[in-house]
Amino acid sequence: MPKATFRFYEELNDFLPNHRRKTDFEATFKGKRSIKDMIEALGVPHTEIDLILVNGNSVDFNYILQDEDRVSVYPVFESLNITNVTRLRKLPLRRNKFVADINLGDIVKYMRVLGLDLYYHPLFSTREIIEISKRENRIILTKSRKLLKFKEVSHGIFIRPGTTTEQIRRIIDCLDIKDNINPFSRCLGCNTLLNIVPKEKILDRIPPKTKEFCDEYFQCPSCDKIYWKGTHFIHMKKVVRQILDHPES
Ligand SMILES: [Zn+2]
Repeated sequence: MPKATFRFYEELNDFLPNHRRKTDFEATFKGKRSIKDMIEALGVPHTEIDLILVNGNSVDFNYILQDEDRVSVYPVFESLNITNVTRLRKLPLRRNKFVADINLGDIVKYMRVLGLDLYYHPLFSTREIIEISKRENRIILTKSRKLLKFKEVSHGIFIRPGTTTEQIRRIIDCLDIKDNINPFSRCLGCNTLLNIVPKEKILDRIPPKTKEFCDEYFQCPSCDKIYWKGTHFIHMKKVVRQILDHPES
């Protein structure tokens, strides 16, 4: 009979009998068997699962098991340690909204430049951050391991030391959210999506020199801030390219 080797990680082991916990084990199967079926037959509910790797590649629940497959099954990540980046790279998209801990100013700015949805206030308390994360299904970004150890925190990313570019790149890579990026679509001040605004409507708010060279303007419907592609924009564009193109690696 065909057989596959399984390994379950973290709290998924709670669903297994003792001799199968935290160790590789073999299981045989008959005919065409989807991986979802097989995993549930082994006792683990599929709702608990965030990532399945077969022979090192991420698969979905419909994958049909093959003889000699090596299957690794991961739970909804608790605090996704960035050192595991390569393993979780193909993580299916579940959440792509964030709330940032205090002291992450630069990360906040450039994640918003990329158009990623990131909630932040420099005076947020730990309690507020956790509550927002729970209420709005946001992934917590933090440099504090302590914050990620709170029982109610289900989705958090520990920000390791590095340049802002490296740190954001790690977040994007490990959540596989490159497709969610839409640079210069969001207000850097308040995170709201920007609208295009006709030049004539805001003439009195544009510096005279800018008026001469720029015809495209954006307005934040929430805080009213006006954006255009000026000198600031050129610098930010450079950083965006650094983050997305990996020129240093
Ligand atoms: Zn705004």
